[in-house]
Amino acid sequence: MRVDEGNVECTVPEQDGDSIGDDVFFNPVQELNRDVTVAALRAYRERESRAASYLDATAASGIRGVRAAADGWEVTCADIDEDAVALCEENLARNDLDGTVLHRDANPLLHEDYFDVVDIDPFGTPIPFVDAACQGTRNLLCITATDTAPLCGAHFHSGVRSYSAIPRNTEYHAEMGVRILLSALVRTAARYDIAAVPILTHATKHYVRTYLELDRGATVANEAMDQLGYIHHCEHCLQRETETGLIANPPERCPDCDHGIQTAGPVWLGPTHEDAFVAAVRDAVTAEMGTAEKAVDLLETLEAELPVPTHYDQHRLCKRWGRSAPAMDEFLDQLRAAGYEASRTHYGGTTFKTPASVPEVRAATAD
Ligand code: SAM
Repeated sequence: MRVDEGNVECTVPEQDGDSIGDDVFFNPVQELNRDVTVAALRAYRERESRAASYLDATAASGIRGVRAAADGWEVTCADIDEDAVALCEENLARNDLDGTVLHRDANPLLHEDYFDVVDIDPFGTPIPFVDAACQGTRNLLCITATDTAPLCGAHFHSGVRSYSAIPRNTEYHAEMGVRILLSALVRTAARYDIAAVPILTHATKHYVRTYLELDRGATVANEAMDQLGYIHHCEHCLQRETETGLIANPPERCPDCDHGIQTAGPVWLGPTHEDAFVAAVRDAVTAEMGTAEKAVDLLETLEAELPVPTHYDQHRLCKRWGRSAPAMDEFLDQLRAAGYEASRTHYGGTTFKTPASVPEVRAATAD
């Protein structure tokens, strides 16, 4: 079938949702991911004017690379599937665009060559590609992970194996996934004296997408490692505390309700985006994008989101306290009136961030 996305028209196989079949993969639901990618590439070129080459390392139909080529990037599309390679060639030609198409495994390719921007959008975990991507990326590494159950601790052992960290299935599960993924990416890059700094990250539907700016040097890699640590979470009263460093010292009992504590980590505790970059990406969203409105909403919410390592779910808290949940804006105003910063989050309509503890939130919103 034909799809129009952004300024391009591509041939993609007819697909049943996001299931993986014998045909070359295409998921229409990922249009938002691709629209944000194109906007992020535009914003990144403004930030780093030297950036010119883009590798779509797991290209499938090539739609992402074709859209980047239409935006003026020197594009290489690579895939191990020869049907995918043929489709990438067809889709570049259909749009009268130049680009290199390689029937290659992304890993050796990234050990042999360099690209300014590398995009890894695999099936499931991106971890098998990250060592090579650290070698073959000059500036910006764009990564999708679709294995959200391992990342958030719902498939605990799989998460531990893939990410060499302990994920916990808390009520902020999507953010747990974001921070477990970023932790593994930052630790992998640090092994090569590279700081991987997230400048845009979002958890949307069943995937996490992150854009990491790479900076080379032992000092900056140490600074990135310094933002790793642990979350100590009480499943009973939902209170959580964070601790930086690679040695965990969990409290034996919850300091607020004396129930047991679950510890997750090492997780990334630092900011998951840079406000100025997110604003630039939002400004780079244009009307021809099919999900422009959703993309702008997402980016505006991200920009306003406080850099606090976990979020609360207002409905979960209110249920636990035996209260009905007031309107979200009223609830956030109550927190601000009590002197706490507060923001909505992109993780869901009933979620919010604040540095206030659970007892502080409870007291501030009591009326
Ligand atoms: N980026 C595409 C899009 O936006 O529609 C979707 C990519 S699809 C989820 C993953 C692709 O990675 C598949 O086409 C698969 O053949 C390819 N792939 C898997 N392992 C690979 C490897 N080691 N090197 C290159 N491509 C690989």
